[in-house]
Amino acid sequence: MKNRNDELAGFQDACRQSGLRLTPQRLEIFRELAESMDHPSVEELHRRLLVKFPTLSLDTIYRTLGTLSRHGLVHRIESVESHARYEVRGAPHHHLICRSCKEIVDFEWAFFDEASLPDELKAWGRIEGRNVVVYGLCRECEGKE
Ligand SMILES: [Zn+2]
Ligand SMILES: [Zn+2]
Repeated sequence: MKNRNDELAGFQDACRQSGLRLTPQRLEIFRELAESMDHPSVEELHRRLLVKFPTLSLDTIYRTLGTLSRHGLVHRIESVESHARYEVRGAPHHHLICRSCKEIVDFEWAFFDEASLPDELKAWGRIEGRNVVVYGLCRECEGKE
């Protein structure tokens, strides 16, 4: 399980290390995302933050998440959906996405994390990450079809 205090401390350290200014806004956006276990979209995150910060704009959240993502502090989940979904980078894990209700579920796959990659990938360059996204229909949505 994620530990919120560790995550916030880690975030502060990571900002310092990458020379990123730790603004209250960045901290609040990171905190809200760290507390969200459902991989929210930018729009959803905005809705939640508006409760505490009524003047925070959607554009600010877009820009902040873009910056944090470039610095590897948050993770943008690759999906076929038009709305990008985000999470705070925790332990390595992969994602299951329901094409109907759009729910994203985390799963672990140590076998894949540790498997050696095909040789042609080594020739291509430096690999910095690997993620599996599995698509389908969750049980609940399957029952409705
Ligand atoms: Zn579903
Ligand atoms: Zn996840």
